Parts: sequence; C-alpha cells; structure tokens
Amino acid sequence: RQPHKSYSHPVSRSEDGARKAHANLNGWKLQCGESSITLYLSYVDSEAASVPLPEGLALVEHFVSPEEEAQLLNVIDWSPTQGDVTAQKSLKHRRVKHYGFEFRYDINNVDKDKPLAAGLPDECVPILQRCVEQGHTNVLPDQLTVNQYESGQGIPPHVDTHSAFEDTILSLSLGAKTVMEFRHPDGRVAAVVLPERSLLVMKGESRYLWSVVFCVRITPRKVDMVPAEAPRAGAPTEPGIQSNLTLSRRGTRTSFTFRKIRHEPCRCAFPSACDSQGAPSPSPGPSLPSCPADAARLEEEYVHRVYSTIASHFSDTRHTPWPRVCHFLSSLPSGSVLADVGCGNGKYLGVNADLVTVGCDRSTALVQICAARGYHAFVSDALSVPLRTASCDACISIAVIHHFSTAERRLAAVKELVRLLKPGGQALIYVWAFEQEYNKQKSKYLKQIFKEDHGEFSSTNLLSEKSQKSSGEQISDPSCHLENSHKPSDNMQGVSRVPDAHLSVHTNRTAFISQDLLVPWHLKGGKSQQEENPDLSSSQASASALKLESGTVPVFHRYYHVFQQGELEHLCAQVSGVKVKSSYHDQGNWCVVLQKE
Ligand SMILES: [Zn+2]
Repeated sequence: RQPHKSYSHPVSRSEDGARKAHANLNGWKLQCGESSITLYLSYVDSEAASVPLPEGLALVEHFVSPEEEAQLLNVIDWSPTQGDVTAQKSLKHRRVKHYGFEFRYDINNVDKDKPLAAGLPDECVPILQRCVEQGHTNVLPDQLTVNQYESGQGIPPHVDTHSAFEDTILSLSLGAKTVMEFRHPDGRVAAVVLPERSLLVMKGESRYLWSVVFCVRITPRKVDMVPAEAPRAGAPTEPGIQSNLTLSRRGTRTSFTFRKIRHEPCRCAFPSACDSQGAPSPSPGPSLPSCPADAARLEEEYVHRVYSTIASHFSDTRHTPWPRVCHFLSSLPSGSVLADVGCGNGKYLGVNADLVTVGCDRSTALVQICAARGYHAFVSDALSVPLRTASCDACISIAVIHHFSTAERRLAAVKELVRLLKPGGQALIYVWAFEQEYNKQKSKYLKQIFKEDHGEFSSTNLLSEKSQKSSGEQISDPSCHLENSHKPSDNMQGVSRVPDAHLSVHTNRTAFISQDLLVPWHLKGGKSQQEENPDLSSSQASASALKLESGTVPVFHRYYHVFQQGELEHLCAQVSGVKVKSSYHDQGNWCVVLQKE
C-alpha cells in the first residue's frame, strides 16, 4: 500500500489468485463515509514487472560531500590550452577529458605505452582512498575519464573494453542526477537512478556483460534560483533577479570514471563479450548492416523495440492526418478495399468511411490502440503481409519504408505493397526526405523548434488544393520508364554512406548530415501541451515544460534511412508491373503514387 496514494500494488502468491481477485474486486464500489469509491484492478506478470539490478552493480549515495563535488568540478579546466595534456575532445554529445591514459574511441582501447602528461588530479586521491577503505576496490585506479553532458545528451551503448581495464570501474556522478540504462545481451534492461554525488561501482557481470545503453536527460528546466553566496566581483548581474538570489545552471552532468589499466589479457567469465578471449571489440554503437541478419537485428532493436516502448506516447502525438494523404483516401471510389501497411495508431483508417479498411503494424501496442478505436488491424511485418495477392484496391505506406535498413529490404517492402494491389490499384508511399528544405521552403520539421523533440515531422498545415498542385508535384509521363530517372548515388555531396560506419545520432530539428541515422525520441510520461497544440507560443511551451517537475526523460533512438530526391522513384522503378503515377515533396517527405498495371 502506498500511503496517501490512490493506488496500491498487492502481490498474489499465484496467478490464479490474482485472476480471482481481479474477477471479484474489479469495479467493486466501497462506501467511505460520504463518498463512494470504485476499485479498479489490473494484474501484471511479476517477471515482466521487475528486473533486478545487474549483478556486481552497487550504488553508494552521498559518497562525496557538496564541498568535494564543487572542488572536483573546479579542477577540470575545459579551456583549450589544457586540451592536449588531457586529450580533450568535444564529441557529438559531450565533452570529454582523459587523465593518466587516453581512452581512444576510434580503437575502443587505450595506448598503454603512451601515458598522458596529466596524471590523475590530486583532488581525486582522498576520494579514491575512501573507495579502497570502504572496500569498493582493491587497487588505486590510474586512469580517469571526465565526461560532461548537457541535458538531453546521451551516450551510445557500450561495454568498456575488457582488455583495456581491470574489473572494477568506479563512476562518480556530479552536478545533476541522471538515469543509466543497463542492457543485458539477452534483452533484459535495468534502469538505475544516479543521484548527484553518488558513486556507481561496476564489477563482474555489470562491468563485463551489461551495456550502458544511454544516459537519460533531466527535466528540461535549465536554471534554478538559489541563494547567492558572497557576490563575485565583476560577475554579470541577471536582470530581474533579486540581489540575494542567483541562477544556477542545471542539467549539466559531469561524470568522473576511474579505471585501472589492465596489463594482462582479461580472463573473465564472460568470453562472449571478452575481446581478450576472441570476441570482437565492443562497438561504440550500431553500424549499417552488412548482411540480412544484421539488418533484421538493427531494425528489431532500433525500430520495433522502440515503437513498442513509446507506443502510447507516440500515439498521443499523432492525431492529425496529413492533408494530402487524406486527399488520396478521399479520392478512392466508395467501397474500395484499402490496406494501411504500417498503420501506427490508425489515424488514416477512419478518414474515409466509404472504404473497407484494414491496417497492420509491427507494433502490438499500436495495433491494440487501433483495436480500441474500433478499427480492423493486425500485427504484421511489412515485408510479409498476410493478405491475399491482388486483394486491395489501394494501399498506403506512410512513414514506414524509411525504417528498413538496406536497399534490398526497402525494395522488398515496395514489392509487398504492389503484390497486395489489384490490377489498376494504387499505392501511396511517404518516406522522410533527406532534403528538409525544398523549393526554398523549410519543412515544418525544421521550423517547429518549440515543439518537443520527437524527431518526426507532423505536417498539420492545410494546404489548399491549388497550392498542393504547385508544391513540387511532378506528374510523370506514363509512357516514360523510370530507368533513366535520377540515381541518388550520383549526387551524394558529402553525404556519408560508408558501409560499416557507425550510425550517427541526429540532432532533432536540424538538417540531416547523413542518410542513415538514429533519431532520438524523448519519452514523456504524459502528453505535454506542446504536443497537443504545436502552435503554442514559446512562452507557453516553456511553461508547460516546467510542469514536468523532477521527471527524467528516457531517450530512445530510432533507425531511419532518409531518402534523397529521386531515390524513392528509383526504388519503385525496380518493381515490375507498376508505374509511378506521380511523385512529390510534401512537408519534408518524398511521396509517390504507384499504379499496378
Ligand atoms: Zn573479459
């Protein structure tokens, strides 16, 4: 029972007991004095509900005092003159310094013969001695990595290379609370809250086997008002702030990670993750797939799992059907059979009540949302839809095919849509465009800087019929075969497409710098006002962000392949028995209408 809460979490000894309690008590009305209370029950499988912490992981709260924390943060000099001796680097999402030895992210290892000019700062010594005295480690570390993350930034999944460091890894969290996610190779995930000034001790399984998946951002409140200490001479005064208060920048987390360089090969009990025992070096993040099995794995982890986790929040942000998709649906004859392959929360399934519609999606959670709305939907992979060949008058595939990670799989997805069509039937395909600026117009995605960073385009502007026609639509000559059409690879202009390259994490609301990337999704517990109404002014938007007090916001990465101009047409041209009827750019998406011959 939770005191002063309107809920409790009773545990039943057996599943049968839980089922009986549910059957007998759900909806039961209680009379409490004047008021009547209704009980609502639901039960969960305990195995799914709680994940124990990784073995070997220990968290020591209040390990350093606020004074020590301030002292440690002061020691770190981020000025460029100090850059060389500490191998300072500004990475994409953080800045990092090394003491003792440099950890090289390009080789995922340390150069043990090249100690850095800067040893561990003296201020660390008493803290490390305390670690030894309290039994957290047997040996004094000789390597320190200092990472500083702004709020909202994370780290790619990784296990510290076994051959580089000894067993125990000590990590101090300073400046801000954060959440670390640990992922076991078998799929188990455990989240650990790291309060400021806490020490995280990773040994054994937690050090050797579990990946630290991402760091989670703190409430997007950037500053706190705190009582000022003695005024600093020459410090700039903040307008509107009383003299005894000051603003403290928040949300910057600095971690001090202490390790001991390993000089002998690792002989841990986890050979599958051990580079000393023949396993490949741990990768700093996912790469473009090099074989079909890799592609399926990448999509499983970076598309399907993410959607199943964010389904409810995702659905809450997807109310408004895109006008030109609606236009396509409205143009279909009454009684047409429509399949929406990758239907999400079903927002297109009810647009035209004169159609016979069925949706499918890879996410069970999203299909359940469709079902709750009264739509026909089923769980299916877009590469193998369990519908008869030539059974549909029309198909739509809206924001789906960009989640396939190889050209072969994207082609297979188009072929599967075409298979479903009757002769003469039409398919509408939308994919996210590499070109977010088209005809000198920035897409809504680039413009919506105040909207929360969902990393997705939601075109809600109602284009008039006339402006739709003029916004870049190309009605292609039906006799023209597409063999001669623009091949995207001719014109890559600095776009990285190196196979085996690690996928970069996209910065939301900015232009794309590569075609294959990971797009962050910041999960909210509940829907915020900005998502309800993207047109809120910036002041209202920041006010609603402030309402999310003391919450942490997990960040999930979704894989995308964003299409260059001409690429979608080129892809469709490889499918026989179908013609591109028209193609256009719509608010940051490339779109085609296909017709089966
Ligand atoms: Zn090992």
